[in-house]
Amino acid sequence: MGDYVRFLLGDYLRVYMAWAQSERIRHHSASGGVATALLKYLLEKNYVDAVIVPSLRFKRCLTYGVWTVVREPSALDIYSGSLYAPVYGLSKILDCALTKFKSIAITAVPCYARAIRRVLESRTRSRDVFIVGLYCNNAPNTWATRYALKYFNINVEDVGRVRFRGCGWPGYTTIETKEGTMCIPSPVFWDSGFGQYFYSVGCYLCADQTNTSADLSLADPWTLPHEPIKRLGGATLVVVRSERGLNVFKEAVEAGYLSAIEVDPVYAIQDATLLKLSRRTLRKGTNTDRYILPLGFMTIAYELTYLVGRLLASRERLWPLLRVYHRTLRPLALKMASVLDYRFRTTWSRINTLIKTMQRARLPNGFLKLAKDPTINHD
Ligand SMILES: Cc1cc2nc3c(=O)[nH]c(=O)nc-3n(C[C@H](O)[C@H](O)[C@H](O)COP(=O)(O)OP(=O)(O)OC[C@H]3O[C@@H](n4cnc5c(N)ncnc54)[C@H](O)[C@@H]3O)c2cc1C
Ligand code: SF4
Repeated sequence: MGDYVRFLLGDYLRVYMAWAQSERIRHHSASGGVATALLKYLLEKNYVDAVIVPSLRFKRCLTYGVWTVVREPSALDIYSGSLYAPVYGLSKILDCALTKFKSIAITAVPCYARAIRRVLESRTRSRDVFIVGLYCNNAPNTWATRYALKYFNINVEDVGRVRFRGCGWPGYTTIETKEGTMCIPSPVFWDSGFGQYFYSVGCYLCADQTNTSADLSLADPWTLPHEPIKRLGGATLVVVRSERGLNVFKEAVEAGYLSAIEVDPVYAIQDATLLKLSRRTLRKGTNTDRYILPLGFMTIAYELTYLVGRLLASRERLWPLLRVYHRTLRPLALKMASVLDYRFRTTWSRINTLIKTMQRARLPNGFLKLAKDPTINHD
């Protein structure tokens, strides 16, 4: 089975569930604050001279990120959380940072991590950059937040600031308006259509959800039982991919920045991992050897519902129609596809069932008692 997991995940050394020891970092981060705590560790122990992270902009109702250099460990707290929008200016900042600093760390979604690796290889600077990778299902475009705010009947003109994750796990999307602050559970915000249609064809064709080029790939622990993780205040699933990644991660644990328990690698496979690795039907010409799984009714339904939804998402005047489509036709299509997959026992459904069964059976010892662990720091 180990080989099978590797086939789906790419090369890895270990998989952990980990969380920042500081409760404050955990509370404000996307899942368990591992990225923020680890970046702090790298800066404080002088492993790197600078860290590059994106900073969120919300201007004229468009949402995007710009890359920022951080040298002060305490400043990293402001940048924690996930930025569900495109981030601009990578080549410029990378070029500047490689010229100015000897070693840096950078957070990156898989396509950026791949691009960074190529640049580093071409400049023979691979040892100088530590890539903290994030899993990525898709990156919503600059218009997605505007759509979601309208979906929740929030006057977009009144909005000053949006923060997508934080306040526990899975946390809330916080929207600061002239009238006050609104909190919408993050999964509800994502599932409004924000995360389903407002992304490019590039993301639709992308097969690498698990960030195979990073030193560490970080994810939400969706595949583990949620209740203990909620009580813990959040956790991050960590796929360690390089020797350097393993050393830094273990040292951060020993230094008290992180806590971790090793988990079976099967927990690093999410529904989206399988969907992204499956063959595409509706854009057959684009199929490459990156799609290692066969198609199923579910993969066809996902493609079809995305392509129809994307069409409706492309014009603001069609957004009311998109709302109706999202609430009625899409769930129906996905439900029917799931029934057909299991009725006809497609290979895709059998792989899915096998992974789910293994995830139910391989919980690490003591996992359910975690939230009561007295050694967890609640500062
Ligand atoms: C667009 C996107 C899609 C994602 N899709 C999935 C998914 O399908 N499944 C899953 O399990 N997890 C996904 N994640 C990862 C997840 O949301 C968390 O980022 C991850 O679990 C790490 O959490 P943490 O609490 O350890 O990070 P934190 O401590 O909150 O730190 C996150 C760090 O990443 C940086 N960052 C935030 N957004 C970006 C970005 N867009 N590009 C580069 N750096 C960024 C922040 O500035 C911060 O330094 C996605 C993240 C993003 C940004
Ligand atoms: S889905 Fe793929 S292409 Fe899109 S942002 Fe994520 S890594 Fe990049």
